[in-house]
Amino acid sequence: AISVRGLRKSYGRDEVLRGVTFDVAPSEVLCVLGPSGSGKSTMLKCLNLLEAPTAGSVTVGGVTLTDPGVDIDAARTRIGMVFQHFNLFGHLTALDNVTLALRHVKGISKAEAKEIAYAQLGRLGLGDVARHRPANLSGGQQQRVAIARSLAMRPEVMLFDEATSALDPELVKEVLAVMRELAGSGMTMVVVTHEIGFAREAADRVIFMDEGLIAEDGEARALLDDPPGARFREFLAQVL
Ligand code: ATP
Ligand code: MG
Repeated sequence: AISVRGLRKSYGRDEVLRGVTFDVAPSEVLCVLGPSGSGKSTMLKCLNLLEAPTAGSVTVGGVTLTDPGVDIDAARTRIGMVFQHFNLFGHLTALDNVTLALRHVKGISKAEAKEIAYAQLGRLGLGDVARHRPANLSGGQQQRVAIARSLAMRPEVMLFDEATSALDPELVKEVLAVMRELAGSGMTMVVVTHEIGFAREAADRVIFMDEGLIAEDGEARALLDDPPGARFREFLAQVL
């Protein structure tokens, strides 16, 4: 579903991604671990060209986004992204946050968009708060609305960048539970996280990024239970 080849990204003279290559198979869940500043967010943003790669290629669902002339807006509708901060529109209800892109990006009618949004919010346990504005929702509920909004677009892949890092500890679980269920449903996912438990239980594969390179890449449990490199062991010791 995703193929990344020789991805590089520089900001001025600072090379943040220094040649990143990996694949994510359909329905595979890949967790990305790594210390602060190792390039995880930059890599994720390059997957949907929120950041323009300096070199290399990114292919999602058979479309090479880095090819010239690609309709990037069309390609982006197939890639859902959830950030640390939920980026919901504060003046809109949960329901309208979900229907907005359906109506304006996909051109779906108001009635149909509402139907899709209610179904998606219900699936994520938000049926009762569909008419609430973000300010009247808990952080966990807000993040689930953000996930519902992405899923309503029926993406082929979902990207998560520390989706639980801004949440109070007691709210982390409900969001991880939604992500776990999504993983189990066969969604292709790339998940940047510090939740090692989630990586161990829900991920098929883990990559460990260090200074703009993939330092480790392997089957999730094998890699986490018996970490090969010294840097990776050090990192795990710090986050566990
Ligand atoms: P964290 O765990 O703290 O989120 P990260 O692994 O996601 O870290 P990135 O956010 O990808 O790391 O940043 C990697 C490097 O790129 C950092 O040194 C950062 O300062 C730099 N960087 C990121 N975005 C920009 C930007 N827009 N302009 C200049 N430098 C940037
Ligand atoms: Mg980051």
